[in-house]
Amino acid sequence: MRRYLTTIGVAVGILGTSLEAQRADSLSRNVREFVSVAEPVVALTGVMVIDGTGAAPRRDQTIVIRDGRIAEVGPASRVKPPAGARVMSLAGHTVIPGLVGIHDHLFYTAAGGRAVQMGFTGPRLYLGSGVTTIRTTGGRSPYAEISTKAAIDAGRVPGPRVHLTAPYITGGTGGAAGSMAAINSPEAARRFVAYWAAEGMTWIKAYTDISRADLAAAIDEAHKRGMKATGHLCSVSFREAVAMGIDNLEHGMLTASDFASDKPVDVCPTNYMAGIAQANPTGPEAQAVIKAMVDRGVSMTSTLAVYEPFVPGRLSNDERTLSMMTPPLQEAYKTLKHRIDSARSSPFTEEVFKNALAFERAFVQAGGLLAAGVDPTGAGGALAGFGDQRNYELLTEAGFTPPQVVQIMTLNGAKVLGVQDRLGSVEAGKLADLVVLRGDLAANPVVIREVTTVFKDGVGYDSPKLLAAVKGRVGID
Ligand SMILES: [Zn+2]
Repeated sequence: MRRYLTTIGVAVGILGTSLEAQRADSLSRNVREFVSVAEPVVALTGVMVIDGTGAAPRRDQTIVIRDGRIAEVGPASRVKPPAGARVMSLAGHTVIPGLVGIHDHLFYTAAGGRAVQMGFTGPRLYLGSGVTTIRTTGGRSPYAEISTKAAIDAGRVPGPRVHLTAPYITGGTGGAAGSMAAINSPEAARRFVAYWAAEGMTWIKAYTDISRADLAAAIDEAHKRGMKATGHLCSVSFREAVAMGIDNLEHGMLTASDFASDKPVDVCPTNYMAGIAQANPTGPEAQAVIKAMVDRGVSMTSTLAVYEPFVPGRLSNDERTLSMMTPPLQEAYKTLKHRIDSARSSPFTEEVFKNALAFERAFVQAGGLLAAGVDPTGAGGALAGFGDQRNYELLTEAGFTPPQVVQIMTLNGAKVLGVQDRLGSVEAGKLADLVVLRGDLAANPVVIREVTTVFKDGVGYDSPKLLAAVKGRVGID
């Protein structure tokens, strides 16, 4: 079978057509209007590569893309563009793997109680910002999300690869947002997981008020069905969830109720942020939480961009973000942000935020698998894709080096999803999911915003054009 396929590949090459050209041609007109590079063989020359493995940046590299995959990558002195390739001379540019957004919802919540499904803006914002793979990490309108994934996979809508998460599960009456499933017995937890497994979801996500018994049942049922489990927890501590076999924990230290004093079992304590403010992110208590996670191989998701707007004085005037919002939302966001910035006290102080940064550093230093995602919720200041880029800058602020941050946001995310053999790094044989950035990313983190072309499956998309398509529309659809 393998020989047969190889023979066909060779024959197709000789005939001058290719699988990649067919794939670009099979995209709908709706998608093709954003495609700027459709040739089957492309060589990117003169670029700096930060490859996602944590290796140091390498200058003056050539990347050869063939039929949707990375065929070769290496120094210009060794790797030459093949005959017939489209050559893109990209001196002064950086190439990184497509970003893997591990907390990248297809809905958006924002100021004034807004909550919209992002069937239109989400896929375009993510792809245009360099995010080529997302995990939805909790759905509000699960069938809308199943349909969005199907439309992207069929080439009807431009967007990232989508790993679907079921609706949130929580305890009590279903959480503050009211869109979650209220699970109040282990039987209900198993029934819920079995249903969504059958509908094609690959992850479940537990929320702040779930009980230990119900979470344990949900995790067990998920694993039986080949799914994985993550949580934005509180009623269950990180250490308790790790002992149950959870696969991933969201938001880092800011949702770890392990630091709350006198936490009642199965209850989210009201004052737990005070515990985080006082906790030492590198002290023995934090180290015990980190060790438990590392020993059991539990990954952690950094979502700094969603918390940042709640910190008074931070991210107060990001014109680029505001320009994407529909005008009433711009006004609502500015009003909310002004209120946060002028409040006399806030649970999200600069000290709390710095603790979160330090905890993530300590987790990685201890050998933990840290990935990242935007979480386009909260105050509404972290938009799909833009917030992923902001995470890059914030992880740099946390003290990670540029190769480390790229690794967290690409290959590490691929590892969380179990797709690291196929994507997540700039290495020969992997799918050609690549982001071309104008400038030197290693010298200046802001370069993460300077996306020119995003390759997904070796097809190049025009980033400015994708972003222009959603300008003024965020907050509508
Ligand atoms: Zn979330």
